[in-house]
Amino acid sequence: MIDSRFFRQECYIDGAWIGADETIPVDNPATGEVIGTVPKFARKETAKAIDAAHAAFADWRGRPAAERAAYCLKIHDALMANQEELGRLLTIEMGKPLAEAKGEVAYAAAFFKWFGEEARRVYGDVVPSPWADKRIVVTKEPVGVVGSITPWNFPTAMIARKAAAALAAGCTVVAKPASQTPYSALAYGVIAEEIGLPKGVLNILTGSAAAIGDELCENPKVRKITFTGSTPVGKELASKATKHMKRVSMELGGNAPFIVFDDADLDRAVAGAVASKYRNSGQTCVCSNRIYVQAGVYDVFAEKLAAAAKALKVGDGLEPGVQQGPLIDEAGVRKVEEHIEDATKKGAKVILGGKRREGLWFEPTVLTGVTADMLVAREETFGPLAPLFRFETEEEAIRLANDTEYGLAAYFYTRDLGRAFRVMEALEYGIVGVNEGIISTEVAPFGGVKDSGMGREGSKYGLDDYLNIKYGLIGGL
Ligand code: ADP
Repeated sequence: MIDSRFFRQECYIDGAWIGADETIPVDNPATGEVIGTVPKFARKETAKAIDAAHAAFADWRGRPAAERAAYCLKIHDALMANQEELGRLLTIEMGKPLAEAKGEVAYAAAFFKWFGEEARRVYGDVVPSPWADKRIVVTKEPVGVVGSITPWNFPTAMIARKAAAALAAGCTVVAKPASQTPYSALAYGVIAEEIGLPKGVLNILTGSAAAIGDELCENPKVRKITFTGSTPVGKELASKATKHMKRVSMELGGNAPFIVFDDADLDRAVAGAVASKYRNSGQTCVCSNRIYVQAGVYDVFAEKLAAAAKALKVGDGLEPGVQQGPLIDEAGVRKVEEHIEDATKKGAKVILGGKRREGLWFEPTVLTGVTADMLVAREETFGPLAPLFRFETEEEAIRLANDTEYGLAAYFYTRDLGRAFRVMEALEYGIVGVNEGIISTEVAPFGGVKDSGMGREGSKYGLDDYLNIKYGLIGGL
């Protein structure tokens, strides 16, 4: 049993904690132990939560922005005041090292602060009228009840990116976290209760993904679906949401290229590759998945990367100094194995790691001699595997990098200013890191193109995803 007031095994609906007969077990991926259960709710309870959010909407949207902002700031403060405790809960249910978990809590809090501040800057327009006796005004209104579905890899931050923007804009929320990591999400219910957030404004519900997803998509009271997860599920949700023409934001899979040109600062590129590849044991949608290295520096880069990755400390995320926690589950481990098997069969060479360790750990791995016909070129590994592809020219690197249906994040390293702009503009991605391996911040727009989705989270643009534009024409002046 986890000793924390944030550890709740019930769902938070309409300001009350509700349990269920049927439950889902939740385990700690580092130990395999079941740490608790959560309700296995389906459509009926989802409809109840939607009703609560719908009932709360009129009051919430009617409040002055400053008041909603104050609540957002209180959530920020509560997250930060309990960063250590919430970080531990996150590590226990998800596996990431405690330092990363605490960083995630701070990152999540930053969204509540940012959108709380932005709430007060939702300006409209007065448009010059083509008629002498009429005036045109444009206002922005909250879209309404938001259905949010989030994954297990950032259980605290993914909800924050959605809920902070929604609440700030004046929307109410029904949030479904991933069943692997529900406790960090339910902790928001504890916070909502403690800061006195009006009931029904934020509801958190666990259970059958398909049933909850269907109700969120098909219930006409929900006006927007915001989702982070895999591309197939995102496409399914987006297509179901068209039944009532709901707004959608989709943060889906990636297949991030990481390009190292001959003229790069190699040590900087190695540090960037380690951060971008091995953070969260490779389980982020912006983790570099394909590392393209120009022929002139290929061997030395491979050697330096292998040395840096070898130094990463693998272990239980609660142990001090650990940098690589376990993967989320057996399927996650098998996918890494499958990518390595496929690549080595086709001629790639393992120069570091390559094996699982007892439990759900996988050794930080580097493969050389990787080519476009291997699985890893097409699929997101979502694990600590760095595959190194060789290229000759800038044009070839751009072509290879864009040769995927995904378009979330891309990275490249060069010291040539002209090339920096050329390549940044040529990459068909929503986010490009130039000489940087970590790109996330609440002040910049996060989101993809192509099969990586639509919509942007964070930044001044992020609020627009939760606002409808209204045009008012006032005549007879
Ligand atoms: P991941 O690989 O991160 O588990 P998923 O897309 O499977 O990606 O899961 C992301 C979120 O979507 C989780 O909360 C999961 O429970 C939910 N989910 C999975 N399948 C469905 C579905 N058919 N309808 C609605 N939500 C789903």
